[in-house]
Amino acid sequence: MDAGDQPMTRLRPLIACEHCASIFRRHDLAPGEVANCGRCGTTLWRYSGLTLGSWLALAITTAIVFMIANAYPVAKMQVQGMEQQASLLDALTVTWDQGHWVVALMTGAAGFALPMVQLLLLMWVLYPLSRGRLPPAFRLAMRLLGLLRPWCMVPVFMLGVLVAVVKLSGMASVQPGFGLAGFALLTILLTILGRLSPHALWRYAEDTGVVRAHVPEERQGEILTGCHVCGQVQSVPLDHPESAHHCQRCNAVLHLRKPDHLSRTWALLIAAAVFYIPANVLPVMSISSLLGDSAHTILGGVIELWQMGSWDLATIVFVASVMVPLTKLISLAVLALFIQFGSTTNLRQRTRLYTMVEFIGQWSMLDVFVVILLAALANFHGLMEISAAPGAAAFGSVVILTMLAAMSFDPRRGWDIEAAGTQIAARAPVSTVEHAPPSVDTDMDGRGVR
Ligand SMILES: [Zn+2]
Ligand SMILES: [Zn+2]
Repeated sequence: MDAGDQPMTRLRPLIACEHCASIFRRHDLAPGEVANCGRCGTTLWRYSGLTLGSWLALAITTAIVFMIANAYPVAKMQVQGMEQQASLLDALTVTWDQGHWVVALMTGAAGFALPMVQLLLLMWVLYPLSRGRLPPAFRLAMRLLGLLRPWCMVPVFMLGVLVAVVKLSGMASVQPGFGLAGFALLTILLTILGRLSPHALWRYAEDTGVVRAHVPEERQGEILTGCHVCGQVQSVPLDHPESAHHCQRCNAVLHLRKPDHLSRTWALLIAAAVFYIPANVLPVMSISSLLGDSAHTILGGVIELWQMGSWDLATIVFVASVMVPLTKLISLAVLALFIQFGSTTNLRQRTRLYTMVEFIGQWSMLDVFVVILLAALANFHGLMEISAAPGAAAFGSVVILTMLAAMSFDPRRGWDIEAAGTQIAARAPVSTVEHAPPSVDTDMDGRGVR
């Protein structure tokens, strides 16, 4: 549905590619179409047939499923006539009571608190927007939403439940609980809702006419750049790329390029690599039972799953817990080295690698979720007790540090080097090169925004 309002008669709004800084003009897409950046291949926007009212209904449904999923146990376990059941909140409480508050805080934020705030924020803005009104504190809500999104890990928790159930089935009788079905449905709903990024919501707000569409023109000594938070393309002085401006629409701090991106990325990567050692060497959980006490490392857990015959889950845990963090560390280091040495080879592949690193970021939290669930389920005083061990906190720190490292890295610098020849990348932002071509340079032909 076309906005029909002010922007249509004049120029359509612009959109900036976050990975290579090219500027494009938005246009309508046909069902199923995706507009990709013609330069680096990043998805710029995609067709959505959902109206604001449908998005609101989806957000409300998701919030109800969220409450149900958390109200019921995800699994039940029986040992010698005793039964223990656990929901996500039980797992958090047990982990906290056992004194592993870092692990409890990390998993509580990623699995419960942040997804809940995300859903509340979505309902807060979608209700007024669907009625054609500007939501109160819209700018603040959008900035919060942008900050929270990468840290919501419900799908990872859901996979963690499955792994925990299989692991315990070797020791006792374990059944999945009603909450697990809730989390399965929640995972699907949240994945669909994930499409509703703050940028997309701002575009909806523009199209409904509650926010004025601003189409900037580039003047002498200025350059067009997109706001990382709201996506608004605006003209800023072409001075030092790292100096701070403020977004004229959402007031977020606006840099042409992320400041000190290489030193920040390296610092976070080195810190993550340091934590990676205790994360793998130290046990992530300890089991005390009548048969004696034992401590389990990540790799030990994978071998155990394999020996139990669950080679599929063993592979998943191995990939998520061992391969993914290592891949992230190595990939980011390679990407940073390319820029450090001013290389312009394989820029498109490098952008794709960076997108992959961003995408897989949260999946390594899997084993930490498994540990807190095992702790809550196998909690039989005197008979068997499982608790988190120091490796779990170290492991969670690796996940957080590598995610922060990926966020600090600025892939646009590589494209800057290409545009500037052999000059220092930072001095030559490239957005001017592709100044809003009238028809978007899409890989798949697309038109407009929805
Ligand atoms: Zn691009
Ligand atoms: Zn902004």
